[in-house]
Amino acid sequence: MLAEPEAPTTSAASAVASAIAARRWPKPGPGLMASLFLSDSLARALLAPVIPLEALRHFGTERNASMMVAAAGIMGVVATFAIPALVQRWRPRRVYLGAIALLVIAPAVTQGQKPSAPAGKEISLRPPFTQRSRSVGFPWEGQLVRGLRVRASRYVRYVPEYASAGRFYGTWQLTQLIERAARRVAERRPGARLSLGELSDKQGGDIGGHNSHESGRDADIGFFMTRTDGRPQGSSTFVQFDARGRAMAPHGGLRFDDVRNWELVAKLVDDSDARVQYIFVSHGIRQRLLREAARVNAPASVVSRAASVMVEPAHGNPHRSHFHVRIYCPPSDRPSCLEVGPYWAWYPGTPPAPQDGAPPLERAALALGMPLSSATN
Ligand SMILES: [Zn+2]
Repeated sequence: MLAEPEAPTTSAASAVASAIAARRWPKPGPGLMASLFLSDSLARALLAPVIPLEALRHFGTERNASMMVAAAGIMGVVATFAIPALVQRWRPRRVYLGAIALLVIAPAVTQGQKPSAPAGKEISLRPPFTQRSRSVGFPWEGQLVRGLRVRASRYVRYVPEYASAGRFYGTWQLTQLIERAARRVAERRPGARLSLGELSDKQGGDIGGHNSHESGRDADIGFFMTRTDGRPQGSSTFVQFDARGRAMAPHGGLRFDDVRNWELVAKLVDDSDARVQYIFVSHGIRQRLLREAARVNAPASVVSRAASVMVEPAHGNPHRSHFHVRIYCPPSDRPSCLEVGPYWAWYPGTPPAPQDGAPPLERAALALGMPLSSATN
């Protein structure tokens, strides 16, 4: 049926080539299955801690980095197939298709059981496919597909005023960013949890009280606060602070927690995965935080990022009671995810081409940090 090679050799390459040409498949067995899983797991374990950030910087997008890991995994699988092929044991290919399906499904299932990464492992290179969210449209006119919920935890509390509405959904990138930032603050400055206000509805879209928060890329985060004796204090609602860090009525006696709030901002602008476009916050609070950054000798690059990203909206709510964090479209969500500049130069990747059908003026104004209504928060 198939011609033998003219001059049979014992080289591995020709054995593989003839096995492929003969369309014969190695015989499966427990040993082969075990080695398949082992090589795949090994590849993932070795690559995951090494690749993430440097890959992002080198390859420009997280999609490219993901493809690299996938390619490495496939090469591992191919190698595992090729070795038994050399010992000439053959079986029907459907067994192998089953094995490949298992290899694909098993890691996704096991990852799905772990809602948050273990401490110390900050980077999630890509979400399991059960958690692939998608941001659609603009923050002020959009939807959220397969939104993920930020859960209350040792590091995160829901601000009670917003708990019942349950609008704690965002993209994978935003929810992971918040969890990483909350954990960072709690680890470095133990004793307080991050106070979470509203993000988006599970499916995104218009929600009352906000002009944006529609596409899973906006989050309101309450300030860390202390009592006058310096001990952390939560509140059932957002609390407004003046430029001197004192709570406004009716919350007298509370103080703005410079230390923890700066830790939070520093982490947000220096995260290695999610890319923050804005942190809307009042001018007075912004100045306090930059002074705190100078006091603790924060790295110059972090300070300049924070100074760029923190903006008091020109109209409407000056954001004296919370941070409003907005992230860029994850590259993988383009082109259905839409945004307008500015694009900060320190982030990897290329800004998207200008959108067809530019947003109406008032919408663009909102995106540029100029809310037109006092309802914006
Ligand atoms: Zn907001």
